[in-house]
Amino acid sequence: MGKVTIRDIDVFEKKVLLRADFNVPMKDGVITDDNRIKEELPTINYLLEKGASLIICSHLGRPEGEFNSKYSLKPVAVRLSELLNKPVIMSSDVIGKDATKLSKNLKPGEILMLENVRFHSEEEENDPKFAEKLAKLADVYVNDAFGTAHRKHASTYGVAKLLPNAMGFLIEKELKNITENIENPKHPFVAVLGGSKVSDKIGIVNSFINSGCDSIVIGGAMAYTFLKAMGYKVGKSKVEKEYLKEVKTMLTNAEENGVNIILPMDHVVCDNIENPTIIENTDGVNIPENLIGVDIGKKTAKTFYKIIKKAKLVLWNGPMGIFETPEFSCGTKKVAKALAKCKGVTIVGGGDSAAAVINMGYSKKVTHVSTGGGASLKLFEGKVLPAIDIIQNKN
Ligand code: ADP
Ligand code: MG
Repeated sequence: MGKVTIRDIDVFEKKVLLRADFNVPMKDGVITDDNRIKEELPTINYLLEKGASLIICSHLGRPEGEFNSKYSLKPVAVRLSELLNKPVIMSSDVIGKDATKLSKNLKPGEILMLENVRFHSEEEENDPKFAEKLAKLADVYVNDAFGTAHRKHASTYGVAKLLPNAMGFLIEKELKNITENIENPKHPFVAVLGGSKVSDKIGIVNSFINSGCDSIVIGGAMAYTFLKAMGYKVGKSKVEKEYLKEVKTMLTNAEENGVNIILPMDHVVCDNIENPTIIENTDGVNIPENLIGVDIGKKTAKTFYKIIKKAKLVLWNGPMGIFETPEFSCGTKKVAKALAKCKGVTIVGGGDSAAAVINMGYSKKVTHVSTGGGASLKLFEGKVLPAIDIIQNKN
């Protein structure tokens, strides 16, 4: 069965409201990574070729429901125009006078960008009246905002109920790469998890324990909560005490299910994260009382590398250390390299992990780098994303 895609619908001389995820990282008004815009080009070009007039809607950052020029989509419209080599008309509002007038006058082949949809608090509240006003701008709704597909908002969910709808090529690609590989995993299936918090990743660890994963390789700050639960000394490393009990249960469940949980056997440690005077590699798994774990150690990195390289399916979420600091980035780099060298299917999800792979120049060497953070984690867990679920089924 499956969901209707833009290939299945007629958009000729129709006004298409395209929900894209142009929530790109910005610094001082300049886009620092335009990957999400580039990933949207196939859908945009296809719709334009088929004779649609395109009204694009997105959010950017967290403007908390009010206008804030810092979160304007203007720089995105400019970048998109450069990439397409075509004008992109910018609306000064989302559902107001300007948007209404500009969308009414829009001709086939033309592109209009609405202002940041999160300038209205009704967006995140999935307000039905707001969704109605959005729907009034167009004849057809296309959702291709994978990064927000786990959210039930007016522009991702409410509006889909009001217009004929379809999903775009990016959502289709994300589903194909992530869901299809997880549903029928090739073995060895290795999950690599890291990042700052166990609490963010409990759902995903539990689902891996129950979904036929062979090994779960754990680095990042979350490893210290696991090591502490096993009785090792972790010094001043970040530990989430309130999860120690839960982690013990996970370890037992993993053992019962024959899932190998592989934790660091050495670490890069320092005395102070901002201004370190000591940075060293520990000899073993225990961390001295006054030191903080900031990356997996050399021995661990080598071990993780070997396990990942041999796998037939690798899912990676969460850096192995505080990779933003070059001295603490070796573990994350080694894992990224392992995925690049692995001959199996390799999938990276999560904003920081994806940024790490892209910045290290490995994005072309892995099977799939997801454009979603939270959304890709939900797919890793095998969950249904509401904004995809609401798209009409194929007959
Ligand atoms: P993703 O965005 O890929 O899902 P997370 O947001 O879960 O990843 O985690 C990324 C953050 O985890 C990074 O900012 C990194 O600095 C932090 N991190 C990784 N290892 C450690 C550590 N040992 N101590 C503190 N923070 C860490
Ligand atoms: Mg993150």
